[in-house]
Amino acid sequence: MTTKETIDLFDKYVIANYSRLPRVIVKGEGCYCFDADGNKILDMFPGWAVSAIGHCHPKVVEALRKQAGELLHIDNTFYSEPQGKLAKLLSERAFGGKCFFCNSGAEANEAALKLARLHTGPEKYKFITAEGSFHGRTLATLTATAQPKHHEGLLPLLPGFAYVPFNDIAALESAFSDEVAAVMVEPIQGEGGINIAAKEYLQAIRRLCDENAALLIFDEVTTGIGRTGKWFAYQHFDVEPDIMTMAKALGGGVAIGAMMAKAEVAASLVPGKHASTFGGNALVCAAAIAVIEAIEQENLLENAVKLGQYTKDRLEQLKQKHAIIDSVRGVGLMIGVQLTSSGTDIADKCLENGLRINCTQGTVLRFMPPMIATKSQINQAVDILDTVLTE
Ligand SMILES: *Cc1c(COP(=O)(O)O)cnc(C)c1O
Repeated sequence: MTTKETIDLFDKYVIANYSRLPRVIVKGEGCYCFDADGNKILDMFPGWAVSAIGHCHPKVVEALRKQAGELLHIDNTFYSEPQGKLAKLLSERAFGGKCFFCNSGAEANEAALKLARLHTGPEKYKFITAEGSFHGRTLATLTATAQPKHHEGLLPLLPGFAYVPFNDIAALESAFSDEVAAVMVEPIQGEGGINIAAKEYLQAIRRLCDENAALLIFDEVTTGIGRTGKWFAYQHFDVEPDIMTMAKALGGGVAIGAMMAKAEVAASLVPGKHASTFGGNALVCAAAIAVIEAIEQENLLENAVKLGQYTKDRLEQLKQKHAIIDSVRGVGLMIGVQLTSSGTDIADKCLENGLRINCTQGTVLRFMPPMIATKSQINQAVDILDTVLTE
């Protein structure tokens, strides 16, 4: 099919709820994807951060092939080996919690919010989230997402949510009451513009939750599974959550989400309270196991740390040359370039030059390179941005 034929199909049959670029991607391989017109694109924002170990990682593809020949899906009436193995691998790399599996980030956050209410009891029903957050598009997670632009046309939202400015301890203190079931926060806001929590801020949230018998939920849907150079971003801050959610990078390109909770909290999720038909099916769990193994066998956490610093250094150099760059911030391979004016055109121009990055909140360019990227690929990416900014 030509690009035009595919776009015509979409125009006729697919709901137009995305602003799509006029390209059809037909293949992905490592740090690159390829469109139907034969263009090769250096992908520094692969799959909105899903393909964090690169497109079609061979170990993931092999695990999927193998599992597909044995068992694709069995419902959660039964046990299945991959789900149990994956839960163990995740638990050992985090705070030793227990897992519930679902199919997306929003679903993982839904599960977290429900569990928080179930565990803390009927008197405690309120949630506090941070301005600029992004927690998903279902009604509860959209309500948790403290950005009015995402709420337009969808009111009334769920009752019981309060929003506080990110990184503001005093505001959080005054928002607290003994009716709060949980605080939900991203250790590093992604869609909100790569905003990094201060260590003291996360520690203050932990203290306030403990003082008020509330739970701390970390949304690690983007930050989890190595993106920041540790398995989970909270491990940079010496603050442990009670509940943590993950999704994007977890499946290496297939749809899986997970919620992990401390065992005593997890105990409140008894049969009948929550479920997911597809959650934790054998196929996606086999892929996620392969992702974890690949990260370890290929030292990708180490690479994320080293390459993240290198990328930041190179982008800092660009800042000397281009006044439009205000600052560069990030942890590991989750990097934002704060511009002084709009960056949408810049991201589009980069794509015309063979580089895919993202622009969020109008003025923040996001670099989320695959953890398998090399210095030379980073150089290539920064050079393209340099060219675009010079023009
Ligand atoms: C992407 C994202 C979500 C939503 O995940 P979906 O899989 O799109 O439902 C939630 N929280 C954060 C931090 C995200 O980045």
